[in-house]
Amino acid sequence: MRWLALASLCGLIGCTSPPVRLPPDAAPDAELLTVEGFRLFVEPGALDDEAEEQLLAELRVARERLEEWLGPAMSPGDFRPRGTPRSHCPPDWEFGPRVVSPPVPVVVRRAALRCHADGHGITVGAPHLDARHASHELVHYLAGSSWHPVDEGLAVYLTERLWGGDRGVPLRIRARVYRDLNLRGTLDPQVLHGEGMSRRDYDVAGAFVGWLIESYGKAKFFELYAGAERNYYGVYRMGERDLLDRFWHAIGALEVQDDGDYYRFQALLTDLSGF
Ligand SMILES: [Zn+2]
Repeated sequence: MRWLALASLCGLIGCTSPPVRLPPDAAPDAELLTVEGFRLFVEPGALDDEAEEQLLAELRVARERLEEWLGPAMSPGDFRPRGTPRSHCPPDWEFGPRVVSPPVPVVVRRAALRCHADGHGITVGAPHLDARHASHELVHYLAGSSWHPVDEGLAVYLTERLWGGDRGVPLRIRARVYRDLNLRGTLDPQVLHGEGMSRRDYDVAGAFVGWLIESYGKAKFFELYAGAERNYYGVYRMGERDLLDRFWHAIGALEVQDDGDYYRFQALLTDLSGF
């Protein structure tokens, strides 16, 4: 187990608090930065002053808004093996307790590593910070684990609610472009867990989760999120196939004839050099 070397400082000021445990993904020489709601373990050289300020501002706003939005569905740091439902009961949105997360550990590395969240906190690579990966991982951490596509869909959808669509193109418009180009892919958990998720899969998952929440409400969605994998029928009284058909029908009914984002994303997707 690794611990941050604060002993000398503690000795000087007579502090009796325990040493801070270094998360497994942190650089051995990480610098600790403690701010309200977060403990950052920053690899030396990963952030200049401006990037550090931007990251702290993003994390502060994201945490405040996500806690408000998630309400009693918060399950900070609750990561379970796949196939282990967290709860069979939907959270009580009216009277359920408001969960307050302890400070979230945030590891920042210099390399463009794979950003992720787990029971230890979130880990982000500095080169990905401009794409709001810190907010995406914070959704995972605060909401706790679930199964594909609903876990990634929620992270993508809420990151869009916080900061707007990636490159300015909303998820539902992206989904419409994939549909029209016959690239809609699959939301089958077996395939997504087995083969991994492409950028397209993330976008479609985000659009699907957004549609589920906006059509049927948060309470039902979190019943699905915390429950058994693929239990669409138990929650919505509709099978997976029916729900997906309704989702794609809603995407197909969007008015896009005069939507500049639609044509811009289509151009990005069909120009291999641009996306
Ligand atoms: Zn994710």
